[in-house]
Amino acid sequence: MEADPPPHGVKLARRNTVLSVRHWTDTLFSFTTTRDASFRFKNGQFTMIGVAVDQRPLLRAYSVASTNYDENLEFLSIKVPDGPLTSRLQNLRVGDPIIVGKKATGTLVLDNLNAGRRLFLLGTGTGLAPFLSLIRDPEVYERFETVVLVHGCRQVAELAYGERIQRELPADEFIGEMISRQLIYYPTVTREPFRNRGRITDLFLSAQFFSDIGQPTFDAAGDKFMLCGSPQMLADFKPIFSRYGLREGNHGEAGDYLIEKAFVEK
Ligand SMILES: Cc1cc2nc3c(=O)[nH]c(=O)nc-3n(C[C@H](O)[C@H](O)[C@H](O)COP(=O)(O)OP(=O)(O)OC[C@H]3O[C@@H](n4cnc5c(N)ncnc54)[C@H](O)[C@@H]3O)c2cc1C
Repeated sequence: MEADPPPHGVKLARRNTVLSVRHWTDTLFSFTTTRDASFRFKNGQFTMIGVAVDQRPLLRAYSVASTNYDENLEFLSIKVPDGPLTSRLQNLRVGDPIIVGKKATGTLVLDNLNAGRRLFLLGTGTGLAPFLSLIRDPEVYERFETVVLVHGCRQVAELAYGERIQRELPADEFIGEMISRQLIYYPTVTREPFRNRGRITDLFLSAQFFSDIGQPTFDAAGDKFMLCGSPQMLADFKPIFSRYGLREGNHGEAGDYLIEKAFVEK
């Protein structure tokens, strides 16, 4: 569907339309929007999205949770109390206009990673979003034998998309077979009883985690990583990677791990 231009002369964005909204908890929701035919992105990237406030665009960075082969766009969003954008965004309804950037960017793209055997996608909270896109990308399964998606949250209800990952995606006509054979999904929570508990950093250093997922323990040569989480989670992982001589990748220089902030602490 061709989207209208935004009403306020925003050159780098287009006005799209909200197609569906799902509230997971009182702090988390997701929504789909139309996608302009000219909006191209790589799976794992983010763009700027937002709404018009007093005739001016209020935009924030958002990872695209859908894939580059989907007709529509999907986003997973926090609801920050008094947050300039999300206090408004959480009231979105089907048919409302939404501004979506014309360009996408970000480090969590396959080309920035060295070749390996196993890929770990480690996300906390809304840091799951770029991985929802990547786990549906066939190239991910062509490059890596095994893909382990770990999603860490405080509460079980925040483990958004868990059902879809475990029940719907393995049956998907296009990518289901690869997902069934190669994807391991490991949800974990820190503040409630659940089958998997603990912070991702602690899990990663424990033998229990590898035993739970039925995989050999950490292999510095064959394991590659993408991380998207709180500034604290990212800071906690960096020394672990340095200890094993892993190198961070970015645009232009491939590495053993890639990092994207799920949000910026203000
Ligand atoms: C590269 C990048 C990608 C991002 N992708 C997403 C995404 O896919 N989904 C999403 O909801 N947000 C994402 N964010 C954060 C997003 O840009 C906004 O900060 C968020 O929408 C809140 O906007 P706001 O104007 O309501 O509050 P802001 O003024 O932007 O934020 C206020 C405070 O709320 C907290 N906060 C903001 N975002 C989050 C979050 N996602 N999780 C936990 N605490 C948060 C922080 O403490 C922040 O300082 C991303 C940020 C970056 C830098």
